[in-house]
Amino acid sequence: MNLAILYRGPLASCNYDCPYCPFAKRRDPPELLRADRAALARFAGWVAATGDVRLSVLFTPWGEGLTRNWYRDAMVSLSHLPHVERVVIQTNLAARVDWLADADPRAVALWSTYHPGQVDRDRFLSRCARLTELGVRYSVGVVGLPEHLAEARALRAALPAEVYLWVNAAEGRRYDAAEEATWTELDPLFGYSARPHVSLDRPCHAGETAISVRGDGTVRRCHFIDEPIGNLYDGSWRTALRPRPCGNAVCDCHIGYVHLKPLGLRDVFAGGVLERIPAAWPPVRRPVPLAAPERRPPAVPAPGSPPA
Ligand code: SF4
Ligand code: SF4
Repeated sequence: MNLAILYRGPLASCNYDCPYCPFAKRRDPPELLRADRAALARFAGWVAATGDVRLSVLFTPWGEGLTRNWYRDAMVSLSHLPHVERVVIQTNLAARVDWLADADPRAVALWSTYHPGQVDRDRFLSRCARLTELGVRYSVGVVGLPEHLAEARALRAALPAEVYLWVNAAEGRRYDAAEEATWTELDPLFGYSARPHVSLDRPCHAGETAISVRGDGTVRRCHFIDEPIGNLYDGSWRTALRPRPCGNAVCDCHIGYVHLKPLGLRDVFAGGVLERIPAAWPPVRRPVPLAAPERRPPAVPAPGSPPA
């Protein structure tokens, strides 16, 4: 049995000040930090003790986790567990990444986001270079706002071709065809993010082979459906796992719709679902023919190709 877990504890603070984020420059009081640390220790203990399931974990804190040593320690220790296939965290890469030298690079990975205006591009790129040096898998993303476009292009040009750069549609923004094409030049999979996916009554892996876990162990299908289906610490999650259709009208966040079965995105991101790295990355470039090629019918798109 394989289970993907999206974990989110009480932490809700961040060192950055992004204008599009409710957690910008928020500070957590000491008691909340203590509670977050204790909740994460309990969760990590549960992961270590649950050896009969192959687990993949994505930490999705509100705010930034890697400025806290308990997230760094959990990433390192979980990466060495034989039944943990992958342990990933969403991060702004503000903190140094040298600690990852102690993690198992076969299991650890980062979902990192570049926030222009909060960090100098060269500084961000130096973090990326160190990750490459350490052999750590990572994706890099930006929010698709017009004021980010020049920085996103410069980032794409500076990153190694092996690093996938994703673009997230900005919250509530509609993209016309020209804008969508512009962002698709940077991220060929941007089409998946540009519009919410109709999900009502459609089958979703969430609640079957993927779950969301809160700091107190409450288990839900995903971060976007509030109804609990069990608890991690009383064992009730085991009998709760089963196929279900989605109960929400739409699903508009990658960490949700990557599990929406009709989209087939688990195939597109096979081997990198939680860290958001496509299976076929970098895209294969066809060699330029030396002589004029004979005419052939157009190629059939591979399964899971992005929507036109
Ligand atoms: S880095 Fe992330 S969590 Fe922090 S303010 Fe920016 S968007 Fe919010
Ligand atoms: S489609 Fe999205 S909202 Fe619906 S169950 Fe799946 S992850 Fe949750």
